Amino acid sequence: MPTQDPNQRIHNFAEVNLGLTAEQAQREAGRCLQCKNPLCVQGCPVNVDIPGFLHWGAQGQWEGALEVILETNLFPGICGRVCPQEHQCEGRCILGRKGEPIAIGSLERFAADSGAQDSFFLDKSTLAGETGDGEKVAVIGSGPASMAAAAELARLGYRVEMFEALHETGGVLSYGIPEFRLPKSIVAREFANLAELGVKVHTNVLFGRTLDLEDLWAQDFKAVFVGAGAGLPRFLGIEGENLNGVFSANEFLTRVNLMGAHQFPEYETPITMGKKVVVVGGGNTAMDAARTARRLGAKVTVVYRRSLEEMPARAEEVRHAQEEGIHFTIRSNPVKVLGRDGWVSGVCCQRMELGDAGPDGRRRVTAVPDSFFDLPADTFIVAIGQSPNPILRQGLPELKFTDRGVIAVDDNYATSIPGVFAAGDITTGGATVISAMGGGRGAAQSIHRYLQGK
Ligand code: FAD
Ligand code: SF4
Repeated sequence: MPTQDPNQRIHNFAEVNLGLTAEQAQREAGRCLQCKNPLCVQGCPVNVDIPGFLHWGAQGQWEGALEVILETNLFPGICGRVCPQEHQCEGRCILGRKGEPIAIGSLERFAADSGAQDSFFLDKSTLAGETGDGEKVAVIGSGPASMAAAAELARLGYRVEMFEALHETGGVLSYGIPEFRLPKSIVAREFANLAELGVKVHTNVLFGRTLDLEDLWAQDFKAVFVGAGAGLPRFLGIEGENLNGVFSANEFLTRVNLMGAHQFPEYETPITMGKKVVVVGGGNTAMDAARTARRLGAKVTVVYRRSLEEMPARAEEVRHAQEEGIHFTIRSNPVKVLGRDGWVSGVCCQRMELGDAGPDGRRRVTAVPDSFFDLPADTFIVAIGQSPNPILRQGLPELKFTDRGVIAVDDNYATSIPGVFAAGDITTGGATVISAMGGGRGAAQSIHRYLQGK
């Protein structure tokens, strides 16, 4: 995948990956062996028919390729850009055993961007024979889980209304993942297809406050899908976290992505950050925060308690961050935020040691005694994970949650309240775009069975 030069891209927010040329894409698709038992499909959480779309791509027929993808994934421009393919389809591709796996993500992106999408995206006949009889279903949230649920429900023949708390739709795709990784025009393009399918979208509606379940039943909604995500940032709970200059990655990224803080005063929301930024965490959120801070002119250090290879972030994001001059202090953990006059002046860290693998397969981390060291910093960004927002819990006391604080659902995505279904990060904790989409789609099918059985 050709990219913008690192020395240039640290001064702009334009997309880093430039996309394959038609010739590169056709050649790459032509490398596919068309396996009888395609392991790549097993690795895809929504089981896209990968050899099926590559077959068309190898002939340069991207419209045919896109049609195959859309049977199972309605948002290929998004997924082609942000899915962790190295752990999914590409990680299972047979060619990867001895050489390079097929660049499935880049090809999915190519098919989505090929221009074919507008012409036949919304072929409702894909689900011909099914009918939701035009009954009303409410969808809470507008992130990937809700987008997939809404699309599937609309294609099944339901009248879908979506209620989003923010003024913008797309969930993390809009407020979390930066423009240089996922252009907002791509999110808008694929989101607009929901309107084409007849989905009505209401923004600035906070379910649990502005509107509750009783209101929805009273408005004749027959079922409700909840895809409210995990938007509540976690903190380390260490001394100094209340100093000025400490941000959650969520706040930092939202200010830039959604509120245009990097274009202040053209946009009204400012961002106050210094020239030496320390980010703690090893996931996509940490990489996004670090790379955003870099583009705002800072010298950035990422502190992570395990090794580089164990970072949960997509491998490409870690590589791009390194190319952009971001420094990694690995096997280390912040223990105190240092301050002067109420502002961050540094971060005291401790070295970590990796032990044997625990029951989750990940190696245990233990602190090395007397191994403290200080990093200079005027901004400290915490990116160690998110939990579900407590508002839903307060607004729906009868809704059961698990010990992990996520909504409890059964195998059919049904919650403890009849007619209310849930999927995505609100049921799994922070996961991936495609797993949220897979859940949303599965929940929509369960809602269909529930309403047809009534
Ligand atoms: P969300 O995307 O969180 O959407 C939930 C929506 O519900 C939000 O719009 C929210 O405003 C709305 N909402 C919440 N409460 C209410 C309410 N009470 N009423 C109405 N609306 C409400 N995954 C990847 O696969 N690849 C990546 O590269 C990647 N990068 C990421 C980078 C960042 C910075 C973050 C934070 C996450 C990243 N992820 C990535 C994870 C991925 O984005 C999430 O797993 C996915 O967005 C979850 O989708 P969701 O629909 O469940 O929730
Ligand atoms: Fe093609 Fe690789 Fe999938 Fe086989 S595993 S069908 S080579 S993409």
